[in-house]
Amino acid sequence: MTSKNIPIPKKLVLLGESSVGKTSLVLRYVNHFFDSRTEPTIGATYLTKTIDFPKYSLRLQIWDTAGQERYHSLAPLYYRGAHGALVVYDVENLDSWERAKEWVKELKSNGDPNILIDIIGNKTDLDIRVDPVEVASYCEENGFGFTETSAKTDSNVDEAFSNLAKKFKVDL
Ligand code: GDP
Ligand code: MG
Repeated sequence: MTSKNIPIPKKLVLLGESSVGKTSLVLRYVNHFFDSRTEPTIGATYLTKTIDFPKYSLRLQIWDTAGQERYHSLAPLYYRGAHGALVVYDVENLDSWERAKEWVKELKSNGDPNILIDIIGNKTDLDIRVDPVEVASYCEENGFGFTETSAKTDSNVDEAFSNLAKKFKVDL
């Protein structure tokens, strides 16, 4: 049997300030729906999604927080062992972009040194206040991918996850 038939497990975590839309992005991506009353948590667990590439498949374990980021105290256990992280900010909320950069620092100091990081600017259906040129140049300097999304209108949500997933190293 080839690895195409056996999805390779990869842990992916979402990080970012409370209310930027992390849970909404996961629910949109995995379950294809958006609910403006989304609870702040889907629980301290993960959802899975299989993603197929021409030569292999990945079984993404997508971890969402249970809202603990509100207290700025996310246990390193949450992102330990993660292969990738999507660090999310809200394009309308300048402070959420500043917070995103703090999460990156925390990942860099406490996470797996090889973790892949992409930045997501969510809520593009609203006013864009965070300058995407600034974010893009920060991402370029750091070797991060950058995708702007709207979980509400389903803009670029699949791309945000697959752009990161396709960078995961796979031994065939
Ligand atoms: P989390 O705390 O980061 O998990 O954020 P949530 O997913 O709970 O979303 C917080 C609020 O933002 C909810 O009211 C969502 O409906 C709303 N929201 C999430 N994504 C979007 C989006 O793309 N556009 C708009 N307009 N609202 C969004
Ligand atoms: Mg949430």
